[in-house]
Amino acid sequence: MQNNKIQLILIGASLSITVILSTLFGFAGSSIYGKFWGWFWITFLFQFVGFIAWNSFLIQKEEAFQQKAAIDTLDKFSKFAVRLNCAYCKQPNNVPIQLNQKNSFKCESCNQTNGVYMQFAATTLTTPIESVKIPLPDSESFAEIKVTR
Ligand SMILES: [Zn+2]
Repeated sequence: MQNNKIQLILIGASLSITVILSTLFGFAGSSIYGKFWGWFWITFLFQFVGFIAWNSFLIQKEEAFQQKAAIDTLDKFSKFAVRLNCAYCKQPNNVPIQLNQKNSFKCESCNQTNGVYMQFAATTLTTPIESVKIPLPDSESFAEIKVTR
């Protein structure tokens, strides 16, 4: 209810400004050439068209901003780190993982390059799994991660 009242006041204010500007242009224009109402309505129409153009520009800008925010969120959720044992020397390494690409890492102690094998499995919440489990954001599923040569 309060919002509606504010919107009505805003619409009323912008309409008043439009009418005042049209009146001013009507007087100014008709003192040079033509009639008051001709200038009045032309000014009114131009403001109306300008308002629509500006409004659709704002809507487009807002949509572009929201799309970018959605992509940023997806990007953030696709990166995380896990602790994996090296397949060569069994030393633990902190490995950054990205869900949307193939992952590999160089072992910090033996310098060998490991591949990372990812498998996703849905489980019931009561079933225990014997491997590295990572809870995925906003879901009941887990990413199961194994190290391969
Ligand atoms: Zn190693």
